Amino acid sequence: MTTVSAYAATSATEPLTKTTITRRNVGPHDVAFDIHFAGICHSDIHTVKSEWGTPNYPVVPGHEIAGVVTEVGPDVTKFKVGDRVGVGCFVDSCRECPSCRAGEEQYCTNPGMVGTYNAIGRDGEPTQGGYSGAIVVDENYVLSIPDSLPLDAAAPLLCAGITLYSPLRHWNAGPGTSVAVVGLGGLGHMGVKLAHAMGAKVTVLSQSLKKMEDGLRLGADEYYATSDPTTFETLAGSFDLILNTVSANLDLNAYLGLLKPDGTLVELGMPEHPMTLSAPLLVSARRRLAGSMIGGIAETQEMLNFCAERDVRPEIELITPDYINEAYQRVLASDVRYRFVIDTESLRG
Ligand code: NAP
Ligand code: ZN
Ligand code: ZN
Repeated sequence: MTTVSAYAATSATEPLTKTTITRRNVGPHDVAFDIHFAGICHSDIHTVKSEWGTPNYPVVPGHEIAGVVTEVGPDVTKFKVGDRVGVGCFVDSCRECPSCRAGEEQYCTNPGMVGTYNAIGRDGEPTQGGYSGAIVVDENYVLSIPDSLPLDAAAPLLCAGITLYSPLRHWNAGPGTSVAVVGLGGLGHMGVKLAHAMGAKVTVLSQSLKKMEDGLRLGADEYYATSDPTTFETLAGSFDLILNTVSANLDLNAYLGLLKPDGTLVELGMPEHPMTLSAPLLVSARRRLAGSMIGGIAETQEMLNFCAERDVRPEIELITPDYINEAYQRVLASDVRYRFVIDTESLRG
């Protein structure tokens, strides 16, 4: 085992603090890599604040991880020392259930994917995430980062990027489709960039018009404030696809009314509390309410390649690890443009 520096949460209310954790020895199929950058996802905050149930403290969050390979096991075929790699939200799965066999490991049913942090690995040990100096992961759960993508900008693609790419592909966003993105945060800004790159007409639905200039620059065709009630009248029945990235409860019914007949509202945000649904809004226009979670390994690689080819990159604010707690406060205040990425240099050995 090796010891590495990390930032961990020890309770729902204490700030994250610097600590050390251990990483397993490199097994035959493992890749060890130095972490260079780790994105801060709102899921990290939900987890450490116990909003999804009490996690297994101490928790080292971080599932948007990019770095450079330092060692590979003897049976590794996909990677070599020096390769630029990434890891997203999971580090293992059963590899046998129908979802795993279909390349949708995120929906593994037996008993489920192994999360990058706050999970128990197949070796029985707790997993710890990317706010740290190094990690060891089975090669089948490691992504290759194309040369043209800088490592810092690649990190947020591993969760925010794939979480928007997958539903946009699944629901066939492209020329002739009208897509709305609700919430212009880490996920939302990737939704705007990706939907625009795929050729869809993109509308941002944000709480205010504060970020309108940014939204239009990122690729939105239209931008509306949801605090203005006339928005919901103006846009009634407008969209084929609505991607809701908001981390808090919303009046989903108001948004269902913005769908065309047969349109789909995809829930991506995972707020702490349940939301209510008005049946007539679904029934009256054969609308659909769906959910979607990240993407499988193959689709994540496809997304990375797409972003490299089409020059789609997240807008990031680089921080040092001692700024993590302040960054969390700013994410909670919707004051992020548009993803905090931790430069983990000071955590590397
Ligand atoms: P984020 O950067 O905080 O963005 C969320 C955005 O939602 C904010 O920027 C804000 O946008 C809007 N918002 C926040 N509070 C709001 C409120 N009370 N009412 C209306 N709008 C509000 O968070 P993120 O990292 O993008 O994550 C968003 C959510 O997705 C989280 O719940 C996270 O856990 C979840 N998530 C899900 C998946 C998945 O696989 N499905 C993957 C990653 C994350 P405006 O300022 O533009 O209104
Ligand atoms: Zn995430
Ligand atoms: Zn499985």
